[in-house]
Amino acid sequence: MAINLTFVLMKIILASQNPNKLYEIQSQLANYDVIGLDPLLFPEELSETGNTLDENARQKAEQVWEKTNESCFADDTGLEVEALNGEPGVYSARYAGVQKSAEDNMNLLLHNLLGKSNRKARFRTCISLCLNGVFYEFEGVCDGEITLKKSGKKGFGYDPIFLPKGSNKTFAEMSLAEKAIISHRGLAVAQLISFLKNQ
Ligand code: IMP
Repeated sequence: MAINLTFVLMKIILASQNPNKLYEIQSQLANYDVIGLDPLLFPEELSETGNTLDENARQKAEQVWEKTNESCFADDTGLEVEALNGEPGVYSARYAGVQKSAEDNMNLLLHNLLGKSNRKARFRTCISLCLNGVFYEFEGVCDGEITLKKSGKKGFGYDPIFLPKGSNKTFAEMSLAEKAIISHRGLAVAQLISFLKNQ
């Protein structure tokens, strides 16, 4: 007799329009059916008007929960540079302007660090998870420094100029799996996974 082993993976919506993030997170959350936003339901960018990463993550998860009533989570990430008093922080996406260009953002950051010997920085990710209308928060941090020039073609955002502590490769020189083990988002998602396992 044939046994039909059909596993139904838990569906969870990632409240993000960033395909790079969806790809990174799907590769880590392999035991879940992580889906992106339906462009018909969310034709516009989700609002992120908070003053902190936590507020923005929560705001994005709330918008998706309110429209879909489905389990969902959102992340918000910022690059915090010590010598620039934590900038660009919550403004990381639009540091060099509303065009949200990764090249422009990196160029501005390299420019603003010219002549500064302290190049310490950290990426911080806040995740807001909504399960049946109840919200849970998670955080991941990756310490490192801003390089003098861009290296590597992988990843996205500031990856070519971020050298994680203890590494000789920028994020943009790492495979997805290498980045996930040490990255801010990888660490925050690992917490999310262990929380979901206990539900
Ligand atoms: P978001 O609001 O979480 O999408 O992140 C804000 C900005 O931070 C993005 O537009 C990227 O420029 C940058 N960022 C977020 N995560 C990463 C990452 O893993 N590597 C490099 N840059 C990132």
